[in-house]
Amino acid sequence: MLVLMNVNATDEQTQAVCKRVEELGYRPHPLPGATRCAIGITGNKGAVEADALSQLPGVAEVIAVSKPYKLVSRDMKSEDTVVRFEGSDATVGGEELAMMAGPCSVESHDQLFRVAEKVAEGGARFLRGGAFKPRTSPYAFQGMGEAGLEIMAEAREAFGLLVVTEAICHESLALVDQYADMIQIGARNMQNFALLKLAGRSRKPVLLKRGMAATLDELLMAAEYIMSEGNYNVVLCERGIRTFTDHTRNTLDVGIVPAVRKLTHLPIIIDPSHAAGKRDKVVPLARAGVAVGADGVIVEVHCDPDRALSDGAQSLYPEQFAAMVGDLRKIGEIVGRTLSYPQSKIHADAVVTK
Ligand code: PEP
Ligand code: MN
Repeated sequence: MLVLMNVNATDEQTQAVCKRVEELGYRPHPLPGATRCAIGITGNKGAVEADALSQLPGVAEVIAVSKPYKLVSRDMKSEDTVVRFEGSDATVGGEELAMMAGPCSVESHDQLFRVAEKVAEGGARFLRGGAFKPRTSPYAFQGMGEAGLEIMAEAREAFGLLVVTEAICHESLALVDQYADMIQIGARNMQNFALLKLAGRSRKPVLLKRGMAATLDELLMAAEYIMSEGNYNVVLCERGIRTFTDHTRNTLDVGIVPAVRKLTHLPIIIDPSHAAGKRDKVVPLARAGVAVGADGVIVEVHCDPDRALSDGAQSLYPEQFAAMVGDLRKIGEIVGRTLSYPQSKIHADAVVTK
């Protein structure tokens, strides 16, 4: 059930509706839009008695939501969500393309600082890097843990980047929440519902990666888990799905971007690195992602990829990243997006690399 407030409804009227929803034993989720506020209702087993709400002052309409997801739905909020970050003017979902880059894993202070400086120079506003790594083999590098998060936080101060890093369990989520600007939920945990609920109780934006065999509905339901706990700042991420092909590590499902646009107000970004699996295919996939309307790109970059402790083969060299940003700026112009970083190179005449 969804309550649409009048365009000129007052905050008091919205609060009174929320109070009534609570009295009925449900949870209200007020989501202000550009013109009016919508209040999603969760916690109801069956249909909510619309009459209990439709007569309250300021209420325009009470709508039954037929889809299994409510808060993520375009019915709830017709305009696109723009995710914002405390203490920064960076956004995800606005006109500006979000550029996130960094190594697969934080390996050392020196490694992260070298690459953070390069990606900041190249146009990233977000620094990625895992401190808790969900590896296929228990014998592979598992990440530096909290020490890695400390290095990420230091790099944020040194280079003015926002930190996005993965949480894989209850304990790591509490730590990531403390150190990072954005909590990443990885493909392998997209349906870890306990973890999604915990992320929903954080006030930090969440980057939710699509599971490697998840449908669009399953992705949206995972986002709904986060939102149902009161965290409305969710960014979806397409990172490739498992198919029969073996020329790329995963198959980048670019078609999900326009499909997502239709169904939800949440932003979606593309991870060409985990889709490609090989460096030479990363940039073309990133270009495709922006061309199809993604809100940004998250990409792996390493200064010495041959010695990387994870995903070296798919990591770009910093120069490739900088050139890619130039390409994406040009493609962005065609699809109505801007890319204003690095600021010193805004007017540089970027050449689409071969
Ligand atoms: C990552 O971003 O390093 C990662 C592990 O990604 P995914 O969850 O998409 O495999
Ligand atoms: Mn990786």
